[in-house]
Amino acid sequence: MQMVHVVTQYSHDDAGLFYCPVCGSELGRVDERCPHVLFTYFEEVGEFTDVSDLISHVVADVEKQLEEMDDDSRMDADPAQLVAERADIPSAICFRFSANVTGGGYAVAINFGA
Ligand SMILES: [Zn+2]
Repeated sequence: MQMVHVVTQYSHDDAGLFYCPVCGSELGRVDERCPHVLFTYFEEVGEFTDVSDLISHVVADVEKQLEEMDDDSRMDADPAQLVAERADIPSAICFRFSANVTGGGYAVAINFGA
């Protein structure tokens, strides 16, 4: 059973999700970290950032799994989806933004129950 729901097909333009939808914090700030973000994943660089302690073990497992894949499997893999499938946080939603002219695709998981 997938424990974090994944919402897809947002575009950057109508997103506004560089701000937390729970507390309004600007996401990605290092000085004042919002407690609701579980992770951000940038497809272009293939990197998880802003990983919460609640989910860091899941992200580490998925990163290890990706390292062990051959190149073809890794290209087809969906790291944000893999983390969402394994994370046991039913109050979270992972929002996905597809790549467009304003930038590469990314996913951000928000824990509404935090
Ligand atoms: Zn927040």
